[in-house]
Amino acid sequence: MSFRVEGMAEPVDLPSRLGILPFRNKVLLPGAIIRIRCTSPSSVMLVEQELWQKEEKGLIGVLPVRDTETAAVGSMLSPGVGNDSGERRLKGPADVLDSQKQDGKNPQELIHWHNRGVAARALHLSRGVEKPSGRVTYIVVLEGLCRFNVQELSARGTYYTARVSRLDMTKAELEQAERDPDLILLSRQFKATAMELISVLEQKQKTVGRTKVLLETVPVHRLADIFVASFEISFEEQLSMLDSVDLKVRLSKATELVDRHLQSIRVAEKITQKVEGQLSKSQKEFLLRQQMRAIKEELGDNDDDDDDMAALERKMQSAGMPPNIWKHAQRELRRLRKMQPQQPGYSSSRVYLELLANLPWQKGSEEHELDLRTAKERLDCDHYGLVKVKQRIIEYLAVRKLKPDARGPVLCFVGPPGVGKTSLASSIATALNRKFVRISLGGVKDEADIRGHRRTYVGSMPGRLIDGLKRVAVNNPVMLLDEIDKTGSDVRGDPASALLEVLDPEQNKTFNDHYLNVPFDLSKVIFVATANRVQPIPPALLDRMEVIELPGYTPEEKLKIAIKHLIPRVLDQHGLSSEFLQIPEAIVKIIIQRYTREAGVRNLERKLAALARAAAVKVAEQDCTVQLSKDVHQVTSSLLDARLAGGAEVEMEVIPMAVNGQEISDAFSSASVLVVDEAMLEKVLGPPRFDDREAAERVATPGISVGLVWTSFGGEVQFVEATAMVGKGDLHLTGQLGDVIKESAQIALTWVRARAADLKLSAAGEISLLENRDIHIHFPAGAVPKDGPSAGVTLVTSLVSLFSQRKVRADTAMTGEMTLRGLVLPVGGIKDKVLAAHRYGIKRVILPERNLKDLAEVPSAILAGMEVHVAHIGSDLEMVIALSNLDHHIA
Ligand code: ADP
Repeated sequence: MSFRVEGMAEPVDLPSRLGILPFRNKVLLPGAIIRIRCTSPSSVMLVEQELWQKEEKGLIGVLPVRDTETAAVGSMLSPGVGNDSGERRLKGPADVLDSQKQDGKNPQELIHWHNRGVAARALHLSRGVEKPSGRVTYIVVLEGLCRFNVQELSARGTYYTARVSRLDMTKAELEQAERDPDLILLSRQFKATAMELISVLEQKQKTVGRTKVLLETVPVHRLADIFVASFEISFEEQLSMLDSVDLKVRLSKATELVDRHLQSIRVAEKITQKVEGQLSKSQKEFLLRQQMRAIKEELGDNDDDDDDMAALERKMQSAGMPPNIWKHAQRELRRLRKMQPQQPGYSSSRVYLELLANLPWQKGSEEHELDLRTAKERLDCDHYGLVKVKQRIIEYLAVRKLKPDARGPVLCFVGPPGVGKTSLASSIATALNRKFVRISLGGVKDEADIRGHRRTYVGSMPGRLIDGLKRVAVNNPVMLLDEIDKTGSDVRGDPASALLEVLDPEQNKTFNDHYLNVPFDLSKVIFVATANRVQPIPPALLDRMEVIELPGYTPEEKLKIAIKHLIPRVLDQHGLSSEFLQIPEAIVKIIIQRYTREAGVRNLERKLAALARAAAVKVAEQDCTVQLSKDVHQVTSSLLDARLAGGAEVEMEVIPMAVNGQEISDAFSSASVLVVDEAMLEKVLGPPRFDDREAAERVATPGISVGLVWTSFGGEVQFVEATAMVGKGDLHLTGQLGDVIKESAQIALTWVRARAADLKLSAAGEISLLENRDIHIHFPAGAVPKDGPSAGVTLVTSLVSLFSQRKVRADTAMTGEMTLRGLVLPVGGIKDKVLAAHRYGIKRVILPERNLKDLAEVPSAILAGMEVHVAHIGSDLEMVIALSNLDHHIA
């Protein structure tokens, strides 16, 4: 609904009869404009006859009607009868009301007509035709003009007409009334309220300029209607406005309604202001807090958050940083203090400062006067054998004792796994009364692993050395650089170069970790390194270290180590003692021979641990039966009875009440001692994995020979298999071989072919051994990469055996590099190789002559049971072949 400002006609000439348009639950007030669409036959007829067909612009009456859900059918009044409430009731013809029909309501329903309406003039009329039905429709824009009273309602065709009488005053009456002082007062009041409303609206919308004009131009009695029509008010209020015929009543009603509207706008405004106020309150709070923080910082004051900072600062102060580093740390702390915890970089800065505070800048283990005798005892007590190694360690310690800041070389223990490298280093730490920290370098390819990442990187952290020092929290630990041979270099830098700096006493005083970004003094750290092999260690690094080799152990040594060290330790680790579990020597020997085949003792220790676990289960089971059958029952029975009488749950109480430390140990002592026998061994460890017959079985056909090689696991027995098949004379090599070993195979084949006649390998007239044949040589354990020259002699033997179709002696293993001319050159790792042969039960070994001196390292017990043959320099490989005693059958 809207209203019109211009051309507002003054009191019109109202005809005595008007066509009536029912207006459902709404009221058209004078001055208001409505737009309606007429589709029902009655309203179409009304518009057509009363407006459309009239030459002059006609008038119609708009009469409010009310829904009557509650009225009983039949209680209607005939049209034309007025009542006091101002409403008439009528049972209308079926199509009287558009809306009624459209709503699908029962047409028999009662219609309450209001007996006052407003005469309206059409400002605009448009006629249309609904396509499918061909029905005519009208759109009418009506302007309310003046109130009327319905004298009588009657039907004209399908629509109603009413006899009406004018309610609004005539011009003369108006002029008369306007002089009434009460009215003047009322109208002033109304205008003031209306003005107030306008100014409030103006603030909000800035588009109410038109309304102001209204206030000045339109007579006040009209204004009242216009204002009220412009807001949403209830139907009842609209009706009462329509009914306010008297000017004073109308004005006071309108003032009330305008005022109410004004109030509701103000309340809404207040609410929004309140919400906005709350928002800005939190913003204000944030600002104030910021300022408070700044003020506190100025004053050097702390609050809860800063307590944390103060704690950090205290920790940093007590860390004993050198002055320049302390300055750097303080700078960083100041930066951190200015940051919000949510700020990016806050946590990284904090973690960095924590590291600075936690690093042992000054703190070291107290160094006692080193007692060499105790140190020796300690080493002896922890390790069996290794006489030379222990001797070297004592020398090292002695030098340190005499000259604590001596720049002695870094000890590097080299040997297969499980030979005690790590435990020796930790014994050194114990002997020196220092803490021990192990830094694993295996697989480290990135320099940043050692030196750390710069703090600009996301997720950066210190290198392993600084991290290790933070862990031990002292600056003079024994630091084990484990598996130093396993570092490699790639695009991310060379860890070895960082290690060089670490190990160089000149440089490690100011070791620079990228993350730490300030130098750290590593000179008090005692470095010890371990490696499986010497070759992969970069020469520059090797230069700074003294290599101490720890070859593998002989079975006898292993037995001693097991009995003296491993078994007691394993029992202890499993909460057992020799009173509960005994592993006889014979059983340990079986484990060594049949269940492990290694240079060190790590697997042996594992197998012993497996036995201890199995025994622990048995002892624990025994313990339970003893406990429950004897003591528990008696002790708890009275308690149980009492509980049962009370109907309580009792099971959970039984064990805790009766089992205490004393009773457990009683139960243990009453349990029988468990002695491991072969049956238990098989049950726990499964069937034996190795036996002495393996070599004999594998060398059952010609073309197979036994070599001795050296791997990072110590010496190994390596079989070489050669076979021939129809082909074009090609050589196929398999078994993950490196270039050197492949070349050895070529050399071996060439040599054998060249000496075919001498070796009586080709029948008379046969020129080539490879005529129509391919040779395939395979090194079993195909998954393990192999390389090195020491398989030369083994390859030759295997080929000769193949071509001569004579089997190699199964009890003979060999090692040695060969040349194309047939010379046998010395190789490394003789002790390990001989030990490996011994482990395999091989009784004869063939070695290059120049390796003879290395036999001094081999324990005599091993050599006693072994036949060692030497291939002389100058003599050729035939000697090896002869020694291999091809076709010699052994039992
Ligand atoms: P590595 O570092 O050489 O690989 P470890 O030092 O870890 O080997 O030794 C493996 C286990 O063998 C350790 O429990 C160690 O105490 C034990 N061990 C090795 N050699 C000896 C030995 N000679 N005497 C006593 N125990 C030894």
